[in-house]
Amino acid sequence: MNQKSQQMHERLRMLAMNLWWTWHPEVINLFRDLDTSLWRRTGHNPIEFLNTISPEEVEARAAELVLQSRINYAFHRLKEYMESRDTWGFVNCGNINKWPVVYFSAEFGLHESLPIYSGGLGILAGDHLKSSSDLGIPLIGVGLLYSQGYFDQRLNADGWQEEVYTDFDWDNQPLELIRDENNNPVMVRIETRTGVLHARVWRIQVGRVLLMLLDSDVAENSEEDRDLTSRLYGGDDRLRIRQELLLGIGGTKLLRCLNIRPGVLHLNEGHSAFAVLQEARQLMEYENISFKRAHRRVSLYTIFTTHTPVAAGHDRFHANLVEEHLGLLREKIGLSHDDLMALGRENPADKSEPFCMTVLALKSCRKANGVSAIHGTVSRHMWRGLWPGRPEEDVPIGHITNGIHVLSWLAPQMMQLFDARLGSRWSLEMCNPDTWNQLSEIDDGELWETHQILKVRLIQFVRRRLIGQSERLGHQDTIESINTILHPNVLTIGSARRFASYKRGDLLLSQYDRLLKLIHDVDRPIQIIFAGKAHPRDEEGKRVLQKIARCSFDETLRHRIVFIENYDYNLARHLVQGVDVWLNNPQRPLEACGTSGQKTVLNGGLNLSVLDGWWNEAFDGSNGFSIGYGGMHDDPAVQYQRDSDFLFDALENEVIPLYYNKQGNGIPLGWVRRMKHAMQTLGWRFNSDRMAMDYVKLLYKPAALASSSEAK
Ligand SMILES: *Cc1c(COP(=O)(O)O)cnc(C)c1O
Repeated sequence: MNQKSQQMHERLRMLAMNLWWTWHPEVINLFRDLDTSLWRRTGHNPIEFLNTISPEEVEARAAELVLQSRINYAFHRLKEYMESRDTWGFVNCGNINKWPVVYFSAEFGLHESLPIYSGGLGILAGDHLKSSSDLGIPLIGVGLLYSQGYFDQRLNADGWQEEVYTDFDWDNQPLELIRDENNNPVMVRIETRTGVLHARVWRIQVGRVLLMLLDSDVAENSEEDRDLTSRLYGGDDRLRIRQELLLGIGGTKLLRCLNIRPGVLHLNEGHSAFAVLQEARQLMEYENISFKRAHRRVSLYTIFTTHTPVAAGHDRFHANLVEEHLGLLREKIGLSHDDLMALGRENPADKSEPFCMTVLALKSCRKANGVSAIHGTVSRHMWRGLWPGRPEEDVPIGHITNGIHVLSWLAPQMMQLFDARLGSRWSLEMCNPDTWNQLSEIDDGELWETHQILKVRLIQFVRRRLIGQSERLGHQDTIESINTILHPNVLTIGSARRFASYKRGDLLLSQYDRLLKLIHDVDRPIQIIFAGKAHPRDEEGKRVLQKIARCSFDETLRHRIVFIENYDYNLARHLVQGVDVWLNNPQRPLEACGTSGQKTVLNGGLNLSVLDGWWNEAFDGSNGFSIGYGGMHDDPAVQYQRDSDFLFDALENEVIPLYYNKQGNGIPLGWVRRMKHAMQTLGWRFNSDRMAMDYVKLLYKPAALASSSEAK
């Protein structure tokens, strides 16, 4: 192997080991250009890619395509990024620069090649890390490494969801074991009444941010415990409390092992709430104080973000499970069983109440927040019982509305257009409305053209996917027939989400005749792309999904209704970049935020959504479309019927007429005006840079200040 090919291979490997590449299209294109089909075959996994292709092949391909300077350029850009101290965080983070924020989350959605997420919560956590990296916010992520992830979704011939679990290949992940000074893997031990649970820890670099993932698959554990971290949201309550023990208690022990003193503990959802107990115990030991004082101290620098307005979405554990797993810890910190249970009970006197992780988090934090304004209101109402005697509006739960990491979700073609028209620094000035006001200068035709190109790309992607799907299902399709599925000139609606019942995934099928009329309209038809997973144990969700899948199998509908299997980061990216309309029709007010619609905005898509979650505060009458007027009804069936009417009214009277009102040059000017208006009014607000800066200003800084002044 010569030196040059070795150096090139090494530089590519350095790029592959830092997930920074996932939001830099010029690096992604490098791998794609080196070998497009291998890139696809590996599921966009650069480590697997480099483990497959030899340095000699890389050199030969690079020479052929003159890629060497691009490899060097990307390598130097990453280096510069990592070494730069000229960041927003350096100037604005104050005390956090001394002691970092530790961000706990049960899932992180960073890229399709790292399947340790299931949906919105994980994607949000991933976007939070990426923006923290870009802004230079000192933050460390802590999570679990699931070797089988959530699951791969396959439909059977009957349209029923089946789950496939595959172990990922450890050699093909950007993981490094965390080791101690003697080069032994750092091990975390948690003692329970029924034995010791062990875990090793992996590190992943996400730009400037370190993510640490605990993994129970070690020889010291029983077979059962080795499987503990294999699946996300997979098991029963016992498995779940053990996972949460590992995350919260294990994660906090890990920090101590590595001598990381957290300036702020950020609990992203209640799964990790046990962290506060371990943190309090450590404070008790170090400062020789009572649990009560230690707990109060910890809550001064703990931030809790709640994510669900659905009661069943909050983990609750039986007293026996709590005693089995936390009994030893509770004795060490001097609490009785009832004292401990009281920390997780809304009504401490009620001895039959299970232990709720959200309650523990709410009782142990300085500030809690929901993830949109309406979700803040709903959460204050939901948890008002914890603050008896206080008026609901004074319940200490605020909100910071979620945003999305723009560079991860924006199509490269749109990026190029922005680079050319908004100036090369637009992405650093993303939260400034003036940046987006310059969009008025972009020619309508140019914007429309770019959007159309993305739509064609989406359609090609969908057809590629359908070829595989249809072969497996035994449908008699030819390439020609697949190529008649979807048309770029037809109004395209995307609808992809978890099939949780409050999301009402089948609302569009609720008035079948009306839908058929819209689909088969000769002059102004619509077409719909569906995707989404149901939780493996959610039979109701699977039935809703099946209804849609069966429509997509119907001979008379299949050119206009498609269901694409296995909704993941990659599919989401294609969808949000290529659709005309993003449909979201949850049962108000049960959508906490719903970030997927935010991903379409800067790509030129328009939202058609119930006034819930972020859309409730985002919609201004002309930056998208609303389904109804924000009404609610006590009977979900009545609300379903009303929203169904509103949905079809909006499609028939607003969306379709505006889309098909094309001028002489074939461009729907009214529609393009709305696209621009959406970008201008929404782009600067609903991105994760704004979100992360809000967390710093409103929550992290005051918390870090309190923890450091207390420590003196
Ligand atoms: C963005 C995203 C989500 C979250 O979307 P919602 O709007 O909350 O439904 C879920 N899954 C994937 C793969 C995503 O990319």
